[in-house]
Amino acid sequence: MKVELLSITPDPERVIELAARTCYQSVDRMNEATLGHLLAKLLMSGHESPFEHAYATFRISGCSRAMTHQLVRHRLMAVSQKSQRYVSEKSFEYVIPPSVPTERVEEFKNDMETIRQMYIKWKNAGLRNEDARFVLPNACATEIIISANFREFRHIFKVRCSPHAQWEIREACMFMLKELNKHAPHVFGDLAANLGVEN
Ligand SMILES: Cc1cc2nc3c(=O)[nH]c(=O)nc-3n(C[C@H](O)[C@H](O)[C@H](O)COP(=O)(O)OP(=O)(O)OC[C@H]3O[C@@H](n4cnc5c(N)ncnc54)[C@H](O)[C@@H]3O)c2cc1C
Repeated sequence: MKVELLSITPDPERVIELAARTCYQSVDRMNEATLGHLLAKLLMSGHESPFEHAYATFRISGCSRAMTHQLVRHRLMAVSQKSQRYVSEKSFEYVIPPSVPTERVEEFKNDMETIRQMYIKWKNAGLRNEDARFVLPNACATEIIISANFREFRHIFKVRCSPHAQWEIREACMFMLKELNKHAPHVFGDLAANLGVEN
């Protein structure tokens, strides 16, 4: 799996502080020293709407559709994903869960090959991509672009970086948290520290 940060609001913490200070008409009191303090206060008090003014976009590729099926449940996130209607899966790639024992990896690969042959069989029988895909596995590799504001990213990280989350979505979200924490440590630092994310 590859996770890449494609874009981010320039100077995101300043934008958030400016939005918050507009509420209190205290923009004139903005300076380097106040930044972290104010953002921490916002988070503590639950005044989270200013965090919606900063945005980030990631590309996640080489991940499974099992993972993206969970990710796209986050409704406040914008999503564009590789289509299985417009793109043939005749040569689909797939993700092998690390829990598959090493000595059985070949068996897993053979199963994927069997499914590929099933897909091709139904394509050759005249089914369109949109119907031939019914035989495809959750392991099928995909590519997805996601965008969300920082408030939503915080929510996603809280539920998806948990040790109880599924390993693949956790891996993707831990990477995104690490990346966003580099750009906005006063927004994501508490989550990163709790989860042991190191920059
Ligand atoms: C550990 C775990 C197990 C899960 N298991 C299952 C499962 O077995 N089956 C299943 O179907 N799903 C499951 N889910 C998915 C889960 O139910 C949510 O759909 C998913 O986590 C998206 O979260 P959300 O709705 O909080 O967030 P988002 O859609 O990202 O929304 C963010 C927040 O905005 C608010 N919000 C958004 N839309 C609405 C709305 N329409 N009304 C009110 N408030 C709204 C809520 O406060 C919400 O928390 C699981 C999730 C987790 C983390």
